[in-house]
Amino acid sequence: MKFSIKLGLWFFICILIIETASMLYLHNNVVDSLVNEELNSLQARGNSHRDVLEISFHNDTLQHISLMEAQTDTDVIITKFNGDILESSIMVDAGIQSMLHKKLNDVARNGYIIQPDWKKQNYIATVSPYDDGTGNQGYVYMLKSNNHIQAFITKLNHHFLLAIFLIFFFLLVTIYLLLKVLTKPLISMKEATKKLSSGDFSVSLPVKSKDEIGELSHSIQLLANDLNYLKKERNEFLACISHELRTPLTYIKGYANIGRRKTLEESERMKYLDIIYEESEYVQQLLQELFDLAKIDQNMFTIQREEVNIKDFLTSIYEKARPVFHNQGSKIQFICSTDRVVEIDPRRFEQVILNLLDNVLKYSPANTTTTIKAQNLNNEIFISIQDQGKGIPSEDLPHIFNRLYRVDKSRSRLTGGFGLGLAIVKEIVEAHSGEITVESTVGVGTCFTIRLKEIDDEDSTFS
Ligand code: ATP
Ligand code: MG
Repeated sequence: MKFSIKLGLWFFICILIIETASMLYLHNNVVDSLVNEELNSLQARGNSHRDVLEISFHNDTLQHISLMEAQTDTDVIITKFNGDILESSIMVDAGIQSMLHKKLNDVARNGYIIQPDWKKQNYIATVSPYDDGTGNQGYVYMLKSNNHIQAFITKLNHHFLLAIFLIFFFLLVTIYLLLKVLTKPLISMKEATKKLSSGDFSVSLPVKSKDEIGELSHSIQLLANDLNYLKKERNEFLACISHELRTPLTYIKGYANIGRRKTLEESERMKYLDIIYEESEYVQQLLQELFDLAKIDQNMFTIQREEVNIKDFLTSIYEKARPVFHNQGSKIQFICSTDRVVEIDPRRFEQVILNLLDNVLKYSPANTTTTIKAQNLNNEIFISIQDQGKGIPSEDLPHIFNRLYRVDKSRSRLTGGFGLGLAIVKEIVEAHSGEITVESTVGVGTCFTIRLKEIDDEDSTFS
């Protein structure tokens, strides 16, 4: 059963029960009030006849009262104490006779209602006692046929039926409109998720409300956007990778083919073998970086933290890098104002610093100075690598940590790598709960800064 039908049915049944109960309650109350009103006015009329009789108890008065009642929809029977009828405005049948002969005990002066049950009897009745003080004593019975009440109830029932019909009609219309409003976004969300599960991420869900349904719609839209972005990124990534692999493989194949020629001189063959070797190294390096990223993605990339003295750690890297920079005609310096201990995976972190230094070597001309700086600020360790290289244009800065992103799109083998280094760096730093940021000015230089939490002195075995 559809959700909208279920919801509508529940809503309808609940309203139906509430509606029926309140209608029944209202109907009974209206009828009861009417009957009470009738009984009270009947009793008041009987009391007023009693008052007249007590003032003037004559045959004329009796006849006059009887005549008056004969003209109305009420009737009167005036009896003695023993039940003998003195005057009556109606024919007294067996039912009335038995009522008249019912024994009345201690009837109060204002009388009482002797026949209140209009459903079981044909009439309602009250009795009022009279005593004129000269021995004339008895009762004034007032009767009213319940035809009048029945007619009123029939009329009331018609009104109630009309009201019930109108209420149900409007209820159905309301339920229909409400369900349309309520279920429309749910149906579009269902359609959207169906589309997503079939691999089509081009979903557009308008968020019209700020309630839970609106939030859900917004979340599905975000999910669809993310999936769409990931799909696009994956396709671009695969296209780039295949391009990266195709180029060196074409070289390898071509030079291997030439190298196979028997007529080729040995020195020529060696030259081609060198090219093949270089290209194979390139492919190997690319595959290594891709493998690292794949491990990070599959959460197979484990960080084995050790307590490391940051000064010793960076000094050893600096010592390793110095001859390489020297060879390129550049300088590197190391300034360390902290002797603190951090919990890092030294092997992975060395990869981070070497990657950043590798970029400096690739993207800085000779005769420049690179500074590795480590300092302790507000219980955090900051490691920065500042170069005097060509810098990164501001429009490229937000993207340089993306996989396969390179500022120089020409992909020249000399000036560029795969665009994976910084992506790996970022993943490793974040796996250490750290943060890497970059500031750069074209023509002036670039500064990468890593922020790391340090370990308290007491915890450290090195400091
Ligand atoms: P890979 O590191 O995978 O061999 P790559 O060095 O090109 O290749 P990243 O290290 O991810 O890739 O760097 C991305 C891009 O950022 C580089 O292509 C380069 O354009 C720019 N870049 C990175 N570091 C610097 C720097 N120190 N100075 C100028 N540009 C830089
Ligand atoms: Mg790099």
